[in-house]
Amino acid sequence: MASKEGKRDLADDSSTAASTTAPRETGAGTATTHDVKSASHASGGRGLGTLDALLEECGRLHGHMCAGQLLGARMAVVGCREVGIEDPRGADRKKLVVWVEIDRCMADAVGAVTGVRLGKRSLKYFDYGKVAATFLNTETNMAVRVVALEESRALADARHLEIESKKERQFKTYREASDEELFKVERVAVEYKETDAPGRPLSRVRCARCGEGVNDGREVRGGDGLTLCRPCASGGYYRRL
Ligand SMILES: [Zn+2]
Ligand SMILES: [Zn+2]
Repeated sequence: MASKEGKRDLADDSSTAASTTAPRETGAGTATTHDVKSASHASGGRGLGTLDALLEECGRLHGHMCAGQLLGARMAVVGCREVGIEDPRGADRKKLVVWVEIDRCMADAVGAVTGVRLGKRSLKYFDYGKVAATFLNTETNMAVRVVALEESRALADARHLEIESKKERQFKTYREASDEELFKVERVAVEYKETDAPGRPLSRVRCARCGEGVNDGREVRGGDGLTLCRPCASGGYYRRL
């Protein structure tokens, strides 16, 4: 489903300017995206696989290829690497939880690359409007937050001025740029309780006002001591008509 532009850029692999910057203090892994790529070639495609293969998967899930997919795919590669997740859709699939901070193209790419899903509770969504995601290895409790740098936008405008299409220019730049040019990576601690984890619901109560069931401790205690769902207690995203 890749667009014409996407296809052309995907085919052009001559520009893989591998990052030679020093390893980050945040991670044991020092491989660049392109090292991941060649390493997985050498090992017969285990683990994350090539960036091209990842993008193909992204395009299939998302319905089109775009710069956001590329950014999200690279973000996922960095996030997994930094928390020591090698095979998020295979051997490590039960170890990874990801929080995304925006509901745009990038979120689909993170899901496609890592296999995390809202319905499996391995994907969490916070509506911060930021191109950012946090990756948690639940086995080691190591977490990093990866944020797309504002500077990366300017980068896409400044490079490859010979390319007329903004979309194509963006795609090529996001493909070539080093991880450091695109992302800020920070070590974080995230609140992740048993009631946030996959598996059977640990509790279920009924809201004293609307009578609807509430799983996993998401209820709140109202001022009058009543057990309430969040929308009844403090207003929700909808309004009954
Ligand atoms: Zn898109
Ligand atoms: Zn209620």
